[in-house]
Amino acid sequence: MNHVDVIVTGGGSVGLTTACALGMQGITVAVVEPRPLPDTPATAGHNPRVFAITRASQQIFTALGAWDGMLAGDAYPFRDMRVWDAGGDGEIHFDCAGLGEPYLGHMIEPQVIHSALQQRAQSLESVSLYCPALVTEIDVTREPVTVTLDDGNALSADLVVGADGVHSALRKRLQIGTRTHDYRQCGLVARVLPERDHQATAWQRFLPGGPLAFLPTTGGWCSIVWTLPVETAQQQLQADRQDFHTALGEALEFRLGRITDSGPRDIFPLQRLHAERYVRERVALVGDAAHVIHPLAGQGINLGLLDAAALAEVVLAARQRQQRIGSLPVLRRYERWRRGENQLMMAVMDGFNRLFSNTQPALGRLRNLGLVLAERVTPAKTLLARHAMGLAGDLPALARISPYSD
Ligand SMILES: Cc1cc2nc3c(=O)[nH]c(=O)nc-3n(C[C@H](O)[C@H](O)[C@H](O)COP(=O)(O)OP(=O)(O)OC[C@H]3O[C@@H](n4cnc5c(N)ncnc54)[C@H](O)[C@@H]3O)c2cc1C
Repeated sequence: MNHVDVIVTGGGSVGLTTACALGMQGITVAVVEPRPLPDTPATAGHNPRVFAITRASQQIFTALGAWDGMLAGDAYPFRDMRVWDAGGDGEIHFDCAGLGEPYLGHMIEPQVIHSALQQRAQSLESVSLYCPALVTEIDVTREPVTVTLDDGNALSADLVVGADGVHSALRKRLQIGTRTHDYRQCGLVARVLPERDHQATAWQRFLPGGPLAFLPTTGGWCSIVWTLPVETAQQQLQADRQDFHTALGEALEFRLGRITDSGPRDIFPLQRLHAERYVRERVALVGDAAHVIHPLAGQGINLGLLDAAALAEVVLAARQRQQRIGSLPVLRRYERWRRGENQLMMAVMDGFNRLFSNTQPALGRLRNLGLVLAERVTPAKTLLARHAMGLAGDLPALARISPYSD
């Protein structure tokens, strides 16, 4: 049996970030991932989905030595954000210059993020990837935790981290309950080419069925996330290209002109999920395994990356103090730190979704007033922008931006 300090189940972006953050400090990590990893670095330009990566997440990737790989893979900086409501003329405009920042964040395709992290993890001696492999048996009742894989390998560790996504097998196996809510909405994603320049700006219009976001990427293309009631999303998924272009152009009030081209479309059912606990003795959950949030502010993966950085910080501090890294008091520090922050973000996203999806005229007027006030009251606007950039809240050291970075 091969012994490591930490086993991470799930080699997605959050799992690999956890592994790199620990592995770079000499903690030995085994990552178990069922999907085969690609041999060559991923190329950009074909995924209908991009992630808006905050400044805090960029800082984590930089500290881990994975950021250059993402820049080489077409990470696209965006400088402005415009948010407005279909029911009025109130609008908030964030621009990076006004906030004293070089940009608000970057748009990056998920496979580019993953590929850069995979290369970094593979370059670390203390990280081993078991891939493709699945956990068939796990015993967390004793120290060390023991794990059997379907490829015949057996591992033991002081701590197991579940980074295996929304349907987390580890969370289910350990019967950690969840609170869930079905939004009865889908996110329709696609790459589209508008007639006018997107001006490196993220455009978001709140419509009664849900928000529509146009996220700027290279070559004048945008990646859209269009939140729609389930049936409407199905209709738009199957709609003839021309009809889809017309509906989409109208939904954005033709702010970027007509839609002249588009790539394949996909839809994702939207739900909120929060694990009742993030930790138990010798176990911690991170990323979507612990929480799934409405994508309207593009915060999902960013929250998961902060979990990874916070958990690594707690584990490293415990190791320095010669405490057991899988002990509940140690892991509770991580849970106390991240659960409240994630809960707050989930509640805010829920509130926005409910407030903006409501067609009552009185609420419409209130919304409009809210947008007008948020635009005019500088401290409120700055606070909102700092949250959107991931720079607010109790950040782990890996995510803190040095005043000397660009
Ligand atoms: C429409 C839409 C748009 C979004 N846009 C954004 C955005 O702009 N910005 C943003 O921050 N977030 C966004 N998100 C959220 C983002 O997709 C997720 O939060 C993020 O991918 C979660 O990463 P993860 O590593 O926790 O999970 P995943 O990416 O799901 O990775 C889980 C990994 O675990 C593996 N796995 C599965 N089963 C097992 C098993 N039994 N054992 C071991 N491993 C297993 C999987 O193969 C996978 O590699 C969006 C989500 C949606 C639906």
